[in-house]
Amino acid sequence: MNEVKTPKKPLLYYSCIALLILLLLNFLALPLLSQSQQNQIQEVDYGTFMTMAENMEIGQVQVSENENQILFTNKDNTIVYRTGMMPDLNLTQMLRDSGAQFSSEIIQQADPLLSFLLTWILPIIIFVALGQYLSKKIMKSAGGANSMMFGKSNAKVYVQSSAGIKFADVAGEDEAKDSLKEIVEYLHDPSKYKDIGATMPKGILLVGPPGTGKTMLAKAVAGEANVPFFSISGSEFVEMFVGMGASKVRDLFKQAKEKAPCIVFIDEIDAIGKKRDNRIGGNDEREQTLNQLLTEMDGFEDNTGVIILSATNRPESLDPALTRPGRFDRRIPVELPDLKGREEILKVHAKKIKVAEDIDWNKIARMASGASGAELANIVNEAALRAVRDGRRYATQADLEESIEVVIAGYQKKNAILTDQEKRVVAYHEIGHALVAAKQNNSAPVQKITIVPRTSGALGYTMQVEEGNHYLVSKEELENKIATLTGGRAAEDLVFHSISTGAANDIEQATKLARAMITRYGMSEDFGMVALETVTDQYLGGDTSLACSAETQAEIDRKVVALIKAQYEKAAKILAENQQKLDELASYLYEKETISGEEFMEILNNEAA
Ligand code: ADP
Repeated sequence: MNEVKTPKKPLLYYSCIALLILLLLNFLALPLLSQSQQNQIQEVDYGTFMTMAENMEIGQVQVSENENQILFTNKDNTIVYRTGMMPDLNLTQMLRDSGAQFSSEIIQQADPLLSFLLTWILPIIIFVALGQYLSKKIMKSAGGANSMMFGKSNAKVYVQSSAGIKFADVAGEDEAKDSLKEIVEYLHDPSKYKDIGATMPKGILLVGPPGTGKTMLAKAVAGEANVPFFSISGSEFVEMFVGMGASKVRDLFKQAKEKAPCIVFIDEIDAIGKKRDNRIGGNDEREQTLNQLLTEMDGFEDNTGVIILSATNRPESLDPALTRPGRFDRRIPVELPDLKGREEILKVHAKKIKVAEDIDWNKIARMASGASGAELANIVNEAALRAVRDGRRYATQADLEESIEVVIAGYQKKNAILTDQEKRVVAYHEIGHALVAAKQNNSAPVQKITIVPRTSGALGYTMQVEEGNHYLVSKEELENKIATLTGGRAAEDLVFHSISTGAANDIEQATKLARAMITRYGMSEDFGMVALETVTDQYLGGDTSLACSAETQAEIDRKVVALIKAQYEKAAKILAENQQKLDELASYLYEKETISGEEFMEILNNEAA
């Protein structure tokens, strides 16, 4: 929940400043103004006054009995004199005889217009400006999740995109693009659809793992259709006070309807669209926001030209009311790219950098198996950075290959010092993996083996590369995979008769695989085709939750142990049978630190010959 922040400078603070300015004006500015006029007056004695009167040298005269003074000017009215009053009964007569003009205002008071401006208009201007400034400040802080602004939505968050992304920029994802092209066509020419009586889906849900290009696709739809694009993240709706999120939803839809045809993109919609439940302490604000979203989606008529796209990594957590027909009724999966997709994505991003002409993109794509679009973009950028670092003018195949390793395993550790014995153990460990993989027919060939420590903590690794796309994996392949994973530990045990912590990651992966085989893939004879585990968060690491009794759980554990043990023994047997090659390859790797798949196979086949 958002924390309530008190504004740093309270209203009182600003009122005090305004008051101070007013006081300064009244007590300093105005008196100073008249003071400057007073300064032009020359003080003279009464005698001088009488002499000037007698000599008829007075132009105007003003007698102020209250202030006990006489003000008078010379004949040209250029100099003002002042003298004190004397009890003189003939004063009036004398002045009259001198030809002076009686005046009521020799010294002009401050310009009435100016004083009016200073005393009335200026304070109003100051107050209005202050008010404007304050309300802007509060608006801004409300945009930053401050709770000072009640009920009004901060429309600023909806950015109109001019990024100009087109479908051509999104590589792969052909199925998703096909579905979205229909939307573009609709936005171009809604009448075609109206004529036949077809209604466009109001909401489209893009689901898939992070970094697969969901946001990009939404932007591409807006770019292709050339319509305004409102983008907001689901979490931006959720506010401190109940009802504020709902108000933002209303405001967003109001704006969207005004700008129709347009696209509204709500990223991470699971932040507001989570299933509602009856749990005590439920999030009222989130539910209200969701209710408002549902109402708004029902409220706007079909074919208004507002298309709502949203993206999520957790479609299973969405409220069923949100995904029913009439709301987000179309779901477009945006999956991790396959081999062809990866190659295309790499090429799209390679256009932004300078690369050598002889790059084997297919090989890079094969090496980066399982990478998302965002990771591939990162790989290409890393390659460019590496080229600059090494003083080349363009990125080479080696740069790209190395950057895959950087993205997978981190940078090479420059000063990690392994003892000789450790290095030997790591070499045997890695060759153990590679040898077991190579000796099992169904395993993918080894691409590269290295024992250079990485910043991720890996002391070495064996990179396997799938030859093509793999959609189905057989039981034997999975078993072989487990055997390959155990190969490292098996080699250590075989050669050194001692085991190390180096296998922690292998153990984790092997256990995960073995468990999935038994509980989800129905690959154990006893359980058969019974789902014992269900996957939650399919796109976010695939956590699982057990759906079976405690006894079955114990049985599953036993089976997992047995399965891994059997594969470990298989790996140990393969290594024992090929121990001579294991030694040869390990010492070669120990010398070279990094060897390629070809070198490995060459040594292996030499032995066979
Ligand atoms: P998501 O919204 O699915 O998490 P994004 O759309 O934000 O992912 O993608 C992040 C970045 O990954 C993009 O800016 C782009 O550089 C890159 N990317 C992802 N998928 C693709 C793709 N299919 N084609 C080209 N680039 C992609």
